Amino acid sequence: MGLLENKRALITGLISDRSIAHGIADAFHKQGAQLAFTYQSEKVKDRVCKIAEKWNSSLVYQCDVSSDENIQQVFTSLNEHWDTLDILIHSIAFAPSDQLEGDYFDCVNRDGFRIAHDVSSYSLAALAKAAHPMMKDQRGSILAMTYLGAERTVQNYNVMGVAKASLEANVRYLANSLGPKDIRVNAISAGPIRTLAASGIKDLRKMLSYYETIAPLRRKVTIEEVGDTAAFLCSDMARGITGEVIHVDAGYHIIGMPAALD
Ligand code: NAD
Repeated sequence: MGLLENKRALITGLISDRSIAHGIADAFHKQGAQLAFTYQSEKVKDRVCKIAEKWNSSLVYQCDVSSDENIQQVFTSLNEHWDTLDILIHSIAFAPSDQLEGDYFDCVNRDGFRIAHDVSSYSLAALAKAAHPMMKDQRGSILAMTYLGAERTVQNYNVMGVAKASLEANVRYLANSLGPKDIRVNAISAGPIRTLAASGIKDLRKMLSYYETIAPLRRKVTIEEVGDTAAFLCSDMARGITGEVIHVDAGYHIIGMPAALD
């Protein structure tokens, strides 16, 4: 029997077979979960529906998380098929491209800051609020995706790092609010992975190669590895864990001073 047998999961942020959401969906499917998905705009609807078919899911809904109406509509529609929801995956981030290149001080501006925080952090609370009626009394689990740029400065990551710090605090506050309702809230801090969103960060290639040299496991992580950790965190095996940020990054975050490079 799989870890997620009889559990229903709504997964946001799927856009390609490289998406972290894809790794999570695959792991969840292997562990017996039923899946539903959201996509950002009509432009990507067919692509996401086609990917969802491989896990036998036809529950695919449009949701731009900057719209409260969109968010509410997803749960109204989902509720017509499922009376309850066990798992909510938040795998979404966005900042305007001019924010992800160059010096933080030079490029940060009010609009970039607001958009990054709205889409990448506030949306977790907005989705949790809308999902909550279907999740209560389910031993529910909410999981967000974050990155080391929340804890340390990372070149070019800039305002996205500030938004990820907000997201991680959001995870802790939501965990405290929803704990009495038996809903756990955690995050995975993944190492860099080449996805569509990551391609927007300047010098990603350099970053990935540096990473492989420095990380204790001397390699990158994969969406499958993030997916397997997500399956564990959203299963009853992790029933004592909430408000946590788990690093799935080949150990990179523990390094203070790397060994001298040849
Ligand atoms: P991805 O491009 O595959 O997924 C990003 C998703 O965000 C897309 O599906 C996109 O449609 C969605 N999105 C953006 N704005 C949205 C909006 N307004 N409404 C709804 N959806 C919106 O990239 P990914 O790397 O799989 O990113 C998923 C999550 O993982 C993000 O939170 C990202 O910050 C995080 N993460 C990524 C890495 C990495 O290196 N790839 C590392 C750590 C954390």
